[in-house]
Amino acid sequence: MTTSRTVLVTGGNRGIGYAIAEEFLAQGHRVAVTARSGEGPEGALTVRADVTDAESIDRAFTEIEAALGPVEVVIANAGITRDTLLMRMSEEEFTSVVDTNLTGAFRVVKRASKGMLKARFGRVVLISSVVGLFGGAGQVNYSSSKAGLVGMARSITRELGARNITANVVAPGFIETDMTDALPAEQQAEYRKNIPAGRFATPGEVAKVVAWLAGDDAGYISGAVIPVDGGLGMGH
Ligand code: NDP
Repeated sequence: MTTSRTVLVTGGNRGIGYAIAEEFLAQGHRVAVTARSGEGPEGALTVRADVTDAESIDRAFTEIEAALGPVEVVIANAGITRDTLLMRMSEEEFTSVVDTNLTGAFRVVKRASKGMLKARFGRVVLISSVVGLFGGAGQVNYSSSKAGLVGMARSITRELGARNITANVVAPGFIETDMTDALPAEQQAEYRKNIPAGRFATPGEVAKVVAWLAGDDAGYISGAVIPVDGGLGMGH
C-alpha cells in the first residue's frame, strides 16, 4: 500500500495541475493546490498564492501546514508562455516567464525544503517541458526557464539526496490544455505530424507519471528527466 502523504500542487485550478491533484486524491493522499483564481478538484484544499510572490507562498504553506500537516511532496507546476521571436522579445517578456516558471519553482521548493529536511523525507517534481531540452522557435524565454528546472532538480539532488529527498523533472510534450488550445489549428496539426505517437496527450497521462515519481516505488530515482511526450523529444 502507498504511504499517504501531504501533497502540494502549484497551479492546481486547471490543466495539468488539476489532473495531478485529482490523481493524488484518487491515490488517497492529502492534497492542497495553489490557485490565483478558481478552485482545485473536490477534496483538495485550495489556497491562494502567486508563485512570483514569496510572501504569498509562505502564507499558503502556513495555511496548508495547519490544515494538512507539513508538505512532503511538492509539484511545481504553475507556468506561463509568452511566445515571440527572439528579435521581438522584450526583456520583460523574457524575465516574466523566467520569474514564474523558474524562480517561481525555486521559491516554492525553497519554502518546502524546510519541512522536508526536518522530516528527512521529501519528493520534489518540477514540471518542465520537452522544449526545455529540445528548444522551440519563438520560445527563448519559455525553453530557458524549463531547461533551468533540470539544473535545479539535479542541484537539489546533490544537496539533499542524502536526506531521503528526491527531485525530478517531468517533461511533457503536447498536452490538451488551455495552453495548447491557444495555438492556431494549423500549428497544432504541424506539431502532431512530428509526434511519433501521432496525438497530443491528456493531462491525466502526465498526472499518473508525476504521482508514480512521488510514490514509494520511485524512491531511488532522483535528478532524472522523465519525458511524457509520445516520443517527440527522444534523446534530448
Ligand atoms: P494552463 O495554462 O492550463 O495552466 C497554468 C496554471 O499555472 C494555472 O493553474 C495558472 O493559474 C498557473 N499559474 C500561472 N502563473 C502563475 C503564477 N504566477 N502564480 C500561480 N499560479 C500560476 O497550463 P498547463 O496545465 O498546460 O501547464 C501546466 C504546466 O505544464 C506548466 O508549467 C507548463 O509550462 C507545463 N507544460 C504544459 C504543456 C502543454 O502542452 N500543455 C507541455 C509541457 C509543459 P491561473 O489559472 O490563476 O492563471
